[in-house]
Amino acid sequence: MTGNTDIKELARFIKEECKNIVLMLGAGVSTSAGIPDFRSPKTGLYANLARLNLPRPEAVFDIQFFQKNPVPFYTLANELYPGKFRPTITHSFIRLLHEHGLLSLCLTQNIDTLERRAGVPDHKIVEAHGSFATQRCLKCRRPFDDAKMKDLVLNFSRTKKIPRCEKPGCNGLVKPDIVFFGESLPEAFSASVSKVRNADLNIVIGTSLTVYPFAGLALYPCPRALINLDLVGDFGEREDPDDFVLLGKCDDIIRELCEELGWEDELLKLWEEAKGSVEDLEERGREAEAKEKEREHLEAEEEANRLAEKLEKEMVLDRVAESIEKKEEKAEKEEILGQVAESIGKKQSNAEVEAETQTETDTTKTELEDKDVKNRKDQDTEQKEETDPPKL
Ligand SMILES: [Zn+2]
Repeated sequence: MTGNTDIKELARFIKEECKNIVLMLGAGVSTSAGIPDFRSPKTGLYANLARLNLPRPEAVFDIQFFQKNPVPFYTLANELYPGKFRPTITHSFIRLLHEHGLLSLCLTQNIDTLERRAGVPDHKIVEAHGSFATQRCLKCRRPFDDAKMKDLVLNFSRTKKIPRCEKPGCNGLVKPDIVFFGESLPEAFSASVSKVRNADLNIVIGTSLTVYPFAGLALYPCPRALINLDLVGDFGEREDPDDFVLLGKCDDIIRELCEELGWEDELLKLWEEAKGSVEDLEERGREAEAKEKEREHLEAEEEANRLAEKLEKEMVLDRVAESIEKKEEKAEKEEILGQVAESIGKKQSNAEVEAETQTETDTTKTELEDKDVKNRKDQDTEQKEETDPPKL
């Protein structure tokens, strides 16, 4: 048994017998958008993770490894971040089912948020493995700002800056609400079981149905359709109701199905609209970079101001110290000068006294000498008068 491969019959069944359709999506839905299947060890991303020096590729989504080293995850997040990719034809088909009032619930294992970007309303989506849509601190569980997160992730390849909790004193690691290995699935997942159980049709697209508990939801005995490259799970093994099994590229099969449903134009219109969901991330990256540079500039300016202030204070202190030193020096000099002056003064007065005494002595001497000379002259005259005979 290989299941019912009649696409016309599936279209008829959807149109005539379905009111509540459930979808179960895997990575295969997003591969045509350019997003690699990073949960499959055989293909895509795991092979590219070797360069991140992981102990094993799965470690990039291991909560314990992340707590020790979040760099590989953020490197990957930078490459995979939503907004870089356009929703696929298959994503637009989900929106179309909603527009026709047939969508009960879209369960996805993908974290790329392409269902939302295709316009499927949030309340109709269960992201079983979480998504990049929200994030919080691992330590205190406080949500982290969406825009800040986006800037940090988009600039990660350049800045290597890990998002950290902004609650004062916390500084915990921030992680997108993606379910890592070792974490439990969101509550919305368990709440979705009844919708799957009561669905008129469960369409399983682009998944290997190997990751549990997600894959377990495909086991409920409601009518099923598989749109996938390969036969997976227990598809084709049931008899009543028989499964629809359509193997091939999901976008091609969805297009064909929509032709059968008469929805092709609507599908293409919605897909064209989805083009607008792709953000100009280069522009956003440039804006984020400019913001980052401005912040760095402001920080540098603040630092410079702080340094200048510090320097000024130091200079003032230096000047004060210098002036104290100078004053001390001056005082010292003055003291020395004083001493010198004093000593010079003393010497001067001594010299003056000495000089004066000398003058006095000299004067006396001269006076005495003068008297001496006079006396001798007088004596000489007298002697002459006595010794010289009178001349006759
Ligand atoms: Zn925190």
